[in-house]
Amino acid sequence: MATILAIGIATIDIINHVSQFPAEDDEVRAISQFITRGGNATNTLVVLSQLGHRCHWSGVLIDEPDSLVVKKDLDQHQIDYSSCLRLNTGKMPTSYITLNEANASRTIVHHRDCPELPFAHFKHLDIATFDWIHFEGRNVEELEKMLHWLRQHHPDIPCSLEVEKQRTGIEALFHLVDVLMFSRPYAKSQGFENAADFLQAQTAPGLMSCTWGEQGAWLHNGKEIIHSPAFPPERVVDTLGAGDTFNAGLISALVNKDSPEQALHSACQLAGQKCGQFGFDNLSS
Ligand code: ADP
Repeated sequence: MATILAIGIATIDIINHVSQFPAEDDEVRAISQFITRGGNATNTLVVLSQLGHRCHWSGVLIDEPDSLVVKKDLDQHQIDYSSCLRLNTGKMPTSYITLNEANASRTIVHHRDCPELPFAHFKHLDIATFDWIHFEGRNVEELEKMLHWLRQHHPDIPCSLEVEKQRTGIEALFHLVDVLMFSRPYAKSQGFENAADFLQAQTAPGLMSCTWGEQGAWLHNGKEIIHSPAFPPERVVDTLGAGDTFNAGLISALVNKDSPEQALHSACQLAGQKCGQFGFDNLSS
């Protein structure tokens, strides 16, 4: 069991299930609606907690009525959020998600009126108590300061960075972390049509993964590029957060000192299991 800190966001997800994706200007009725906590960093923590790790989240928590959804879910999963920055103005980031039951695609409209976590807050956390630190690749300017500070003061604490979207200057962070977790949209934004070619072109020194939906995931282990196929469940019902689940599986295996090959395989297995169910519960076995 490890003590893991994730830096990133929690959101409120309003998920409408529809039988097929609406055309523009259409009016359709949702089959059902769920309001739940989301956000990449906290999704990853919810899975890591079920894999037996002590989990801490540091991000911005706005004291407004809707944040109860976030706090309740984090409490349920024993995730410590005492190191969050608490604000009493603004609004928790909110994702409006249309989940198409015909093919399990998820289309997201995101709204935020919430600042990103500043370095000034991060540097006062009790960093020495963590065995692993995971960063969501968001506010590049502040993240760069956090990573430099981490490298200078705690060079032995392993850290990972999720790179989901192209953000100006994000490449400057790649050499500062031990594990880079790339998404298909990021690889495509760099002009690549497959994960192996994308990873081959990277020059960062650490481990690098790149997920590619139903094709599974690839990992650059420093010497070569290895692949694991996806593990399709009997029926794919919800791919929302498959990448976050994969990242949790990878971190858990690596912090437990599994080989990169084993870690890739078990992360794909866990992500496949998640695609066969709604949400993130019961992912421990
Ligand atoms: P994201 O959630 O960021 O869009 P991906 O779609 O790349 O991420 O999925 C992450 C991982 O989840 C994949 O590498 C794969 O292992 C698993 N996965 C995704 N879609 C499926 C699917 N349809 N069947 C089985 N596994 C899947």
